[in-house]
Amino acid sequence: MRTIGLIGGMSFESSAVYYRLINEMVRERLGGLASAEVILHSVNFADIVALQKAGDWDAAADRLARAGEGLCAAGANCVLICTNTMHLVADQVAARLPAPLINIIDETSATLMAAGRKRPLLLATRYTMDHGFYTDRMRRAGLDPMVPDEADRTTVHSIIFDELCAGKVVDSSRDKLLAIIEKAKAAGADSVILGCTEICLILDPDTLPLPGFDSTTIHARAAIDFAFGEKSA
Ligand code: GLU
Repeated sequence: MRTIGLIGGMSFESSAVYYRLINEMVRERLGGLASAEVILHSVNFADIVALQKAGDWDAAADRLARAGEGLCAAGANCVLICTNTMHLVADQVAARLPAPLINIIDETSATLMAAGRKRPLLLATRYTMDHGFYTDRMRRAGLDPMVPDEADRTTVHSIIFDELCAGKVVDSSRDKLLAIIEKAKAAGADSVILGCTEICLILDPDTLPLPGFDSTTIHARAAIDFAFGEKSA
């Protein structure tokens, strides 16, 4: 089994989900007390949020690349950036690493394409929904993603940062997210991407008004496929 390197802490609430999923997936495959070979570099999220707010993506890329280099030096055979948002700098980070970086946008796109879903609603941070790095990459993969309207993007962003990343799951926020999904369904969406690694803490992808695709689970599964030599990345 190959060793998985995780750049986490963004937020630690979702890194904990990655850690659990990756280990559960190994146990499912191997049985008994088997668990994954994992190395985690968990950053101080407050530092990263400050760089996001300042728009200093180059400094953020350098910070994550240094974490990734450390993981590779410690023996990681692949690296995951455990957040959709910071895939804004994924190509810059990947260029610095001796091991492959498993890209959450590519993995999520491939999963939707394989499921025959082409018009997903993307629920994510404003960085992910607004900047284009995510939706453009999905379009190149053959998808036609939708994002919520301006007011709803603000709502989703604040649920992520003010609640989920802070460890709070609020029922009324779940209702707001479900209403946004219903609206997208009426506007022609055929699926919904939980495009922020904390959204799975509040929404179950299997009980939504549209077929749900959780980026955290998809990314973790891709890491496991790589760890078992079933994927080259
Ligand atoms: N984990 C979140 C994501 O998947 C947001 C936190 C961040 O800004 O990195 O986008």
